[in-house]
Amino acid sequence: MADETSRRVAVILLGPPGAGKGTQAKLLAARYGVPHISTGDMFRDNAARGTELGVQAKAIMARGELVPDSLVCDMVAARLRQPDAEHGFVLDGFPRTPAQAGWLDAFLENEFIDNPSGSKGLPVVIQISVDYNQLLLRLTGRRSCPAGHIYNIHLQPPRVADVCDVDGLKLVIRNDDREEVIRERLAAYELQTRPLADYYWNKGRLVSVNGDLPVPAVTGQMVRAIEQQGAAAEVKNPAGSF
Ligand code: AMP
Repeated sequence: MADETSRRVAVILLGPPGAGKGTQAKLLAARYGVPHISTGDMFRDNAARGTELGVQAKAIMARGELVPDSLVCDMVAARLRQPDAEHGFVLDGFPRTPAQAGWLDAFLENEFIDNPSGSKGLPVVIQISVDYNQLLLRLTGRRSCPAGHIYNIHLQPPRVADVCDVDGLKLVIRNDDREEVIRERLAAYELQTRPLADYYWNKGRLVSVNGDLPVPAVTGQMVRAIEQQGAAAEVKNPAGSF
């Protein structure tokens, strides 16, 4: 069997804001040598650079609402067509509506899958479940450094208050981690994103992990789910792609 860095691995992480999608996505992406694709990070980057997309997304994000599907899907299509995504990816924060999920399935079938009749082409969909009070603690305590390292003042504080352990940069509160915006983001999740679990469940593609456990234990559950799907796919199609 190929080693972990040469395997083709495609993963979709589902879960409410604060479930740990970003943390786990980074770990999985490094483990399997595939890009971590976070639509939230892409919008924040566009907003910081003042692009047209960033200007449109910024006000929507500040209200805790979702950016329209068409804008998100175009951005994701361009990203998935980059050469580094050819052998897989970890999607974090996308899809977020049933319409985005339907679009993604069609996109992957058209552009990614060597063998559309085999289940090998479909990403593993992992839902992270977290207790509601734990979510609030994570979101209200979250501090990020501009380079992307994430801390939590209650659960995982930096060694020096408000300073990144890794690069010494000043930690900031994400614009949308303010309490009133957090409420909106959780409401948007309940209304628009939670139905996605049913979409994938009905297709027999959903795996659920307990996101209340410590970070390494959550990663372990995910790796097992990915390995199991990989093993099943290898039996179905020894020569195919992911
Ligand atoms: P996140 O960092 O994933 O929590 O995303 C931050 C914000 O970016 C969200 O609250 C939305 O406004 C926007 N966003 C990110 N991903 C999507 C998506 N797939 N669909 C719509 N809006 C998104």
